[in-house]
This record gives sequence, structure tokens and C-alpha cells, in this order.
Amino acid sequence: MKVIVAENCGFCHGVNNAITMAEKVLKQEKDVYSLGPIIHNNEVVDRLTKSGLKTVNSIEEIHSGTVLIRSHGAAPAVIDQLKDKGIKIVDATCILVKTVQRIAGQMTEQGYKVVIIGDEKHPEVQAVMGCAGEKVIVIGDESDLHKLPENDKLGIICQTTQSYEYFSKTLQSIVQTSFNELKIVNTLCKEATKRQQSAVELCRRVDVMFVLGSYKSANTHKLAELCKQHNSQTFHLQNWTELDKSTFFQKEVAGVTAGASTPEWVISEFVINLKKL
Ligand code: SF4
Repeated sequence: MKVIVAENCGFCHGVNNAITMAEKVLKQEKDVYSLGPIIHNNEVVDRLTKSGLKTVNSIEEIHSGTVLIRSHGAAPAVIDQLKDKGIKIVDATCILVKTVQRIAGQMTEQGYKVVIIGDEKHPEVQAVMGCAGEKVIVIGDESDLHKLPENDKLGIICQTTQSYEYFSKTLQSIVQTSFNELKIVNTLCKEATKRQQSAVELCRRVDVMFVLGSYKSANTHKLAELCKQHNSQTFHLQNWTELDKSTFFQKEVAGVTAGASTPEWVISEFVINLKKL
């Protein structure tokens, strides 16, 4: 079978940086915690757990040691609570996510009601919400438009890993509501956008498309969703072991892409095995 790998796929610099920082801090410190999984990939989390990283879901579970802030970032209130407990902080927040947090803070200071386009449950969005004042609004889809205040100043930003299509479609709906002033900053991640563009370009040329990455990874979901719109024979898998061979029956060319939290070894293993078939 002919296999083509998307030009841009796999680890982004934000995820790479968080893993490198985790490996470094694990060599230097004893009790190292991550608030939530460091990335949405079980294999990477398991490897770091073996090296000593403890993944917890709340601050209450941490009493001493060092906390690694993952690439999604954390709300200022969370950072303050950790500092109050005397816990050392190693900040691996992605530089772009930091910029979005800063923009949200500036918009609030300038009197805008911050509107985040994205998924309210995603940790990156929750961290940005914490930088944007009490009246922050999250718009996931059209059913959330009723949350927008009338005759107000709205400052709009987007979750970094959403697609350009989703951002612009939601903006079109927002501009039809009654506001006084709109300030829009494009906070989409260029690395995520490049992965989406090369995945869409590739899936149009192949008989079957495989999107590799955790089912918990928002950016992998987005990639799979976009590919499905352009190639109905798209399959989201976590790794090689999940492949159902009937998916490529009578197909000659397969495309492969992967989310920003999918390690290189998962992609290589999948491609090598697929080529052997
Ligand atoms: S996808 Fe973009 S914003 Fe998210 S961690 Fe990677 S580089 Fe940063």
C-alpha cells in the first residue's frame, strides 16, 4: 500500500517544550506534579510517570514539591494558590497560550467583555477565562449566542487549536448580534492551522485517511473532523494496534496525519506497519 504522511503533523513546539521541561525537572527535583495530564497521550504520560511525574487533578492533592504547568497553562488564581502553599512552579505554558492570556487581561482592562470562541471545558480555555475577569463569555456554537450582552464592547479571541473555518463562521454569527463595539484578535495557533491545512490537502488525494492521536486530544479531534468533511473514509485511531484492516480493503493510497500531542514513534510505527501490508 502506498502511504503518504502529511507535511505538517505530530508534536508542536509547545508540546515538545513541555515534555523537555518535564524530563529536565524530573532529573533535578524529587516530588514533581502535573495538574492534569501533561499532554493528551497515554504513552507519553506513562513514560514520564515511570520517571517520577505524578499526575493529579486538583491543587488539594499537592502539599509540597514542584508543579509543572502544562502547555495549556493555568489560571492566575491557580498559580496564586500554589504559591500560597509554598509549592515551586515550573511553567511550561506554551508561549502562544501565554500571549492569549495576556490579550484577555488587556481587553478586560480596556473595558471589553472578553468572548472566547471555543470549548468551555478545555483546560486552555479555562486558564484564559481566569485571566479575563468575571464577565467572560465562552461561545462554543450558535446555541451560546444568547449569552452575549447587548450594546456592549466585546473583545473576541479564539481557542488556539480551533480551525479557521470554525472561528470565521462563529464570528459571522456574532457580528449579527447587537453590540456597540467589537475588537477581534486572531489567536489561532499557526502550527495547528498548518497541520489542519496539510491534512485537508492530503485527505483529498488519498483513498483512505488515518488521523493518529488520543481520543482526549482536542486538536486531533479537530483534524479528524476536518478530514471527514473532505474524505468520508477518514479514521481516527490512537495507534497501530487499533487498525481494523477492513478499512483499507480495495484501497491503494493511504494518508496519515497526527495531532500535536502524538509522538513521532506512534506515527513511524503506524506508517512502517501500513507499508508492509
Ligand atoms: S498547538 Fe499551538 S498553541 Fe497549542 S501547545 Fe502547540 S504550539 Fe502551543
